[in-house]
Amino acid sequence: MSGTVKDHIDYAYELDLAIKPESSVPIINREYGVFSGPGVPLFSIGGGYFRHALQQILVNFHSRRGYLVVETPLIASSELFKLSGHMDFYKSNMYILNIEDREFVLKPMNCPYHLLIFLNHIARFRSKVKLPFKIFEIGRVHRFEPSGSLYGLLRVRGFTQDDAHIITFESDTLNVILNVFDEIKLLLESVFNLPISQDNIRIRLSLSDKNLIGKDFMGTIEEWSSAEDTLEKITSIIAEKYGIKASIGVGEAAFYGPKIDIIMTLKSSSGVKEWQMGTIQFDFNLPRRFKIYDIIREVYGDNRVYIIHRALIGSIERFLGGYLEHYRGRLPLALAPIQVAIIAIKTGDWKVDEVILDKTINIREKLLSNGLRVGLKESTKTSLPGDIRSIESTIKPPIIIYIGAREVRESILTISIFSHKEMKRISKTIKYSSLDEALTELENIIRGEEEGVIKISGFAPRIPADLSHML
Ligand code: ZN
Repeated sequence: MSGTVKDHIDYAYELDLAIKPESSVPIINREYGVFSGPGVPLFSIGGGYFRHALQQILVNFHSRRGYLVVETPLIASSELFKLSGHMDFYKSNMYILNIEDREFVLKPMNCPYHLLIFLNHIARFRSKVKLPFKIFEIGRVHRFEPSGSLYGLLRVRGFTQDDAHIITFESDTLNVILNVFDEIKLLLESVFNLPISQDNIRIRLSLSDKNLIGKDFMGTIEEWSSAEDTLEKITSIIAEKYGIKASIGVGEAAFYGPKIDIIMTLKSSSGVKEWQMGTIQFDFNLPRRFKIYDIIREVYGDNRVYIIHRALIGSIERFLGGYLEHYRGRLPLALAPIQVAIIAIKTGDWKVDEVILDKTINIREKLLSNGLRVGLKESTKTSLPGDIRSIESTIKPPIIIYIGAREVRESILTISIFSHKEMKRISKTIKYSSLDEALTELENIIRGEEEGVIKISGFAPRIPADLSHML
C-alpha cells in the first residue's frame, strides 16, 4: 500500500470486504464509518458518537425508571454458565476459551451475572430489597453465527443488548410486562420517532415444542404449560391495548422459558423487511438453578417468583442497522453525530466576511456550551450547492444553520431542519435582536419539529464536540 489518503480508505474497505463473506454491507452504515470485522462491527467517524449517545440515553432512561444499572465482564468461568444451563442447552452458540488450564466462555447472555448481583443484594440487604427488582446493563455478548449468515449490522457475532432482568412475584407479572411494553413504546416514539402501530410492529408469542421439553427446553411439561398459559393471556392484553397483531411461534421459545418477541417492519434498500428487535422472556428455570426460590421464601415468606429477561430494542447493532436503512441514514437529533452544521457563506468582501465568521463562531460556541455536537463549514455562494450535497450524502446533520451577508444585514438566522415525519428538510427564518433570543427560538422550533427530542430532553445525551472536520 502506498500513496494517497484515498488509497488507504479504499484499502480499509477492501479489508472489510475481504474478511466478511457478504459484500453487500449497507452503504449507509459506511457513511458513519461503521464497518465490520468478521461479524464484529467497528464504529468510527460519526458512528462512535451516535452509539455512545444512544448508550447514554439508555442508561439515563433505565435509571430513571428504577433499574439498577450494572456492568459485568465479557468473559466468565464456564462454571457459571454450567450452573445456568447454557453449557447444556446453548453450547453450540458459545465461544469457549482455555486460560491457564481453566475453561472460560465469552458470555453469550448477561443473565447469570445479573442473578449473581441479585443474590448479592438480597444477601446484604434482605427484605429491604423490594420486588420487582430490576437490573439493567448495556450488555455486550458474543454468539456464534455461521459466516454465511452474517449481514452488515443486522446479523453479527458480537453485539450489545439493552438488557434487563426483573425478579418479580408471580402476582405482579402482568403489571411488570405491561410496564415493559410501555417502555418500548416510550423509547421508540420519543427517541426514534417510530410510532407504534400495526403497520410497523407485531408481537409473536414464542412457545416450546412439547415433544422437545427436557431435550431442547429445560424444565417440566407442567412448568412450561403454566408459564405459557399466563403469557398467552398477557399477549392478548398487549395486542388489544396497543392495537397490534399477535401470532404464535411453536418451538421458538428460549431454552429456559416462553417469550414475547417484538417484530418490527422496516424499509430497506431491498424492500420491506421484518426484524426481531425487543423481547420479553419468562423464566422459571434460572431461579431454581440459582437457588433464588429458597432465599426468596426465607426473606419474604412467598417464593412464587419469575425472572423476566427483557430488551426494549434488542441488539443495539441490529436496531441501528435497521433504523439507518429505514430512514436512509437520517438519525434523530438526539443521536446524530453532528447535530448542527453551521455554514458560513463568505462573500469575498473581507469586511463583510469578518462579521459573518464572527457571528458563526459565536453561535458555534453557544451551541457547544449548550451540549450540542456542532460542525462549522466555510463556504461561498459558488461552492454552496456542492458543499450541501456533500454534507447531505455523508454526515446528514438534522439541523443546518446558514449565515451569509443577508443573515448578518437583517439579523436573521436561516435554518433548515430535517423532519422524519415528512422525510424532507423544512426551512425557517428566525429574526432576532440578540443571539440568545435566536437560540431560544431555535430550541422552540426543534421542539415543534422533533417532538421526541424534547420529551427526552431531561435525559438527552451531552457529548458536546466540535466535529467541523467531518463536514
Ligand atoms: Zn437474560
